[in-house]
This record gives sequence, structure tokens and C-alpha cells, in this order.
Amino acid sequence: MKETTRLVRAGLPEPPAKLAPGAPIHSGPVLAAAFSTPSDPSQSAYTYNRFHNPTWDELEHALGTLEGGVARIFPSGMAAITAVFAALLRPGDIVVLPADSYYTTRILTREFFSAFGIETRLAPTANNAQEQVLGGTKLLWIETPSNPGMDICDIRLLADAAHKVGALVAVDNTTPTALGQQPLAFGADISVASDTKSLTGHSDLLLGHVAVQDTELNAKIDRWRTLSGSIVGPFEAWLALRSLSTLPLRLERQSQNAQIIAEFLESHRVVNAVYYPGLASHPAHALACRQMRFFGPVVSFQLANRSRAERFLAASKLLVEATSFGGITSSAERRARWCQDDVSEGFIRLSAGCEDIEDLLADLDQALTASTTA
Ligand code: PLP
Repeated sequence: MKETTRLVRAGLPEPPAKLAPGAPIHSGPVLAAAFSTPSDPSQSAYTYNRFHNPTWDELEHALGTLEGGVARIFPSGMAAITAVFAALLRPGDIVVLPADSYYTTRILTREFFSAFGIETRLAPTANNAQEQVLGGTKLLWIETPSNPGMDICDIRLLADAAHKVGALVAVDNTTPTALGQQPLAFGADISVASDTKSLTGHSDLLLGHVAVQDTELNAKIDRWRTLSGSIVGPFEAWLALRSLSTLPLRLERQSQNAQIIAEFLESHRVVNAVYYPGLASHPAHALACRQMRFFGPVVSFQLANRSRAERFLAASKLLVEATSFGGITSSAERRARWCQDDVSEGFIRLSAGCEDIEDLLADLDQALTASTTA
């Protein structure tokens, strides 16, 4: 079966197995804190919801198949990232992060893991600069495309270099999702994502997951989840499973819209620069074409200054001004307002949704024009 068929059928039995007569086509969430566990607990498939849940299993099976590994779900992208750091890093270890990663990942190591004796080294995503600082590293953390700068690095090249020095390699794969880019197939040990974004795509839940191929690594991640209680409610897991079946439709449409928007912005007189891996002008476009199957929904671009960016956002009738990305509804925000990314005051991160592209282009055009008049 092709990937799209698997995703559309997520939660259904694998052919040739069929649903029993009278069974609901899709099962609902299993809402239980505890499961009947007479006598020896090892004889019960399920015992207590902090350890396991049938709805998690369905979602993890679908995610694992998509990733080409085994998946464990977490209540947010940051919970998934924390699970990797906590399960794998020990005092004296060094982790190499992208200097331009999603900023909370950097804050997490700076404010918490450094206190446990873990050293963080930073290097930019572009030009595979992380390769230069790998000596003595325990974990190389990659984020490609980087958020919000949309820089790209070569997963295979960096994974090979990291493995030579004995480091594990994790990729934050949030922006493209595992349908758009498969880190494990390029040699990464760990694929991590915030599924709050395109993977679930309706801007109505927080979720994350970690996928690996190695059984021992999976056991460490699983152990962290069980002991820390960093678990997903069955209802959220079920909502995610429901959303996953439309991922191929949504990601394809978002990526098509994002490409057209990026090209439109690039040719617009009011826009100073556009950052999108699907653009021929992106410095790593050739690499992105080899590594990514979809370029994803996020298009970043630069207007002259803060007031122009604010006027643009206020004038748009279709862009929801909100943080986060990957939803079916287009959104955008002025990134410098969070004071955490190294971006100019007029830098905007836009997330292309699934609306009709003609409506989006007309709206962008009028909002860009409006941005120039005080
Ligand atoms: N990784 C990336 C690249 C992100 O953009 C985000 C959130 O924006 C996260 C991780 C964290 O995800 P969550 O908000 O689901 O914890």
C-alpha cells in the first residue's frame, strides 16, 4: 500500500483483515484511567493509562509506519523534545543545537539542562555549519527547515559526520512532517515533531511524537514517558488520528499554496526578501529538492520595518494573526514581537492554509499595498 492509502485508512485493519460485521468503521477514543487487571498484570493487554492506551496504539502505529520506525506520542512538541534530552543526556554530555532553531528548544537547554551539567553548543543550520562543532558530542540536534529562517541542512551528511564521532542524531521535523521529509531514511537516529502544526493541522490540539528504529532507544523514550507521566489524553490522540487521515490532502494543498505565495511575494515590489525552500533562489534549493517531498506551508518574508509589517497584518482580511503554523486556515505573524529570534522588525512568518489561492493572492496584494500607506 502507498503511504497516502495507509494514512487515509489510519485506524482501520490492514488488508486483507476486515472489520467484524456491525463494528463501527472508526473506533472512538478509549477513555479509561485503569483497565480490568485480574491477578498477574502481565496477562492483561492494558493495565493503567499512564503506561499504555489502545487509542495511543492506533495513532502510534500510523505514525511509526509514516516515519519508518516506532513512534511514541507526547502531549506537545516540547514534551517530545524534553523526552529525548531527558532520556539520553547525562552530566558532562554535549548537545549541538542549531543557533537558529525554534527558540524554545534553546531556552530549554539553557535554563534547565545546563543546570544538570549538560553543555550546549550552537551553530547555524545553513551550510551544514553544525558539522564544524561536533567533537565530543553526545547528541546532534538538527532542525531543517529551520524555524523561522527556513534554512536547510543536509541530514545525511550531518548524520554521517555525527556518527563518526559517536554522536546520536535527532531531527526536529515539525515543519515538513514525516510525509514531507523522512529523517530516519536519511540516517538520523531520532525523528521528533510538534504535531500541533501540519500533522494534525486544525489548530485545535497540542501534540508531539518521537520516532526511532532502535529498540533500546525506544525503550528509553518509553521509560521516560511512563515515569514522568508526560502522556496524551485519549481524546487528543483520537482527534490526531482523525486528522492524520487528511494529512496528504492538506499538506499537498498547503505546499502548493505556499509555493505560489512565495513566488508572488518574491516578485512584489514591497517585499525585501522571501525565504522558502521551494524557490529556485533559495541557497539550498537543490538540496531541499533531494531531501523533501513537500516544501511545507511556511513562507517567511521581510518587509521594510515594523510599522509596514503591522499595517500589512492589520490590512489582511484572510490571514489570522496568530503564532503557530500548519493549520488549514492561513495565518501570519511578525516574528520579532517575541524578542527571541534573530530576525529584523519587519520579518513575517506566514503559514499557507488550504483556502483558494486566488483569494489568498488578492488579499496579500491589497494588504501589501496598504502596508505602504501610513
Ligand atoms: N519545534 C518546532 C520547529 C516548533 O515550531 C515548535 C512550536 O512552534 C515546537 C517544536 C514546539 O511544539 P509545541 O508548541 O507543540 O510544544
